[in-house]
Amino acid sequence: MLSSPLPRRGLLGLALLPGIAGIARAQAPVAVVASFSILGDLVRQVAGDRARLRVLVGPDADAHDFQPRPSDAAAIRDAALVVRNGLGFEPWMDRLLRAAGGSPKVATAAQDVTPRRLPGGAVDPHAWQDVGNAVLYARRIAAALAEADPAGAATHATAGEALAARLRALDAWVREQVATVPPARRVVVTTHDAFGYFAAAYGVEFRAAQGISTEAEPSAAAVGRLIRQIRAENITAVFVENLRNQTAQRRLAAEAGVRLRGSLYADSLSPPDGPAPTYEAMIRHNVGLLVPAMRGEG
Ligand code: ZN
Repeated sequence: MLSSPLPRRGLLGLALLPGIAGIARAQAPVAVVASFSILGDLVRQVAGDRARLRVLVGPDADAHDFQPRPSDAAAIRDAALVVRNGLGFEPWMDRLLRAAGGSPKVATAAQDVTPRRLPGGAVDPHAWQDVGNAVLYARRIAAALAEADPAGAATHATAGEALAARLRALDAWVREQVATVPPARRVVVTTHDAFGYFAAAYGVEFRAAQGISTEAEPSAAAVGRLIRQIRAENITAVFVENLRNQTAQRRLAAEAGVRLRGSLYADSLSPPDGPAPTYEAMIRHNVGLLVPAMRGEG
C-alpha cells in the first residue's frame, strides 16, 4: 500500500501500525453524522470505510430549511461524531442535538475559517465555496475523526493531509481558470447569495435577486434592477442553482434577453449519477460552467 518513501516520523509510527490495524479490524466502523451532502463527502474522503456515515440533508436537498425526522435524532443519539458546517448554516442543529440526547462529539467544520460578514452584520455560512476554506474543513474533519476513532488516528491524519493537498491543487486550478476571463467580464448573476466566499477568493462578482438564505422570495424591485444591469452591462453569465425555484430565474433571463448557462451547485451535491457527486466534482462543474459563460462564449 505504501508506495512512496515515508518521512522519518512516519517510519517511527509504522512500528505501531500492525497492532493498531489489528484492533481496528476487530471494531465496528465509527458512527458519524454529517449535516449535509458536501460535508458528508469530505468526511467520506477522509474516513473511507472506517466511518459508518449518515448524511442528514442529502443530495439536491436544502439545508437552510431542513426539517429533521425522528430517525435523524436516533442517528445522532447513536453517533460518536456529528460534523456540522457552523456559521449559522444549520439553524436547526442545536435543537436537534438537544432533542436527540446521546453524547456524540460535535465538530464544526468551518471553525478555522475567517467568517465573511454581510452588510447588516450577519455571517455568510457558505464558506466551502472558497476551496482554500475547504482545506481547513478537511483538517478539522480529520482531527475530529482521529478523536472519535483513536485507533484510526494515524489513518485519518494521513487521509486528511492527502485530501488537503488535492484541495490546494484544486484551488490553484480555479485561480488559473478565472485568470483566463478578462477582469471586466467577471460578473455572474445567480439565484441566491451563496457565492460570496468564491467571489472574495477568486475575484468574481456575483449578483442575486434573493438574499443569503432561501426563505424569502426575491422582490419585484430586486428582479427589475438585475434585469436592467444584465442589459446595460451585457452580462452573459446568468445561472440557476440546483435547489432553487428556477421559474423566477427563467423569467428573469427571458426578460433580460439572455440564455441561462446551466445550474450551479451551491449548497448541496448532486446524486451519484449527476454532475457534482463530490465536493471536488462540484467545484470543477461550477467553474467549468462559469468561465465560458463569463467570457461570453457559446
Ligand atoms: Zn445557501
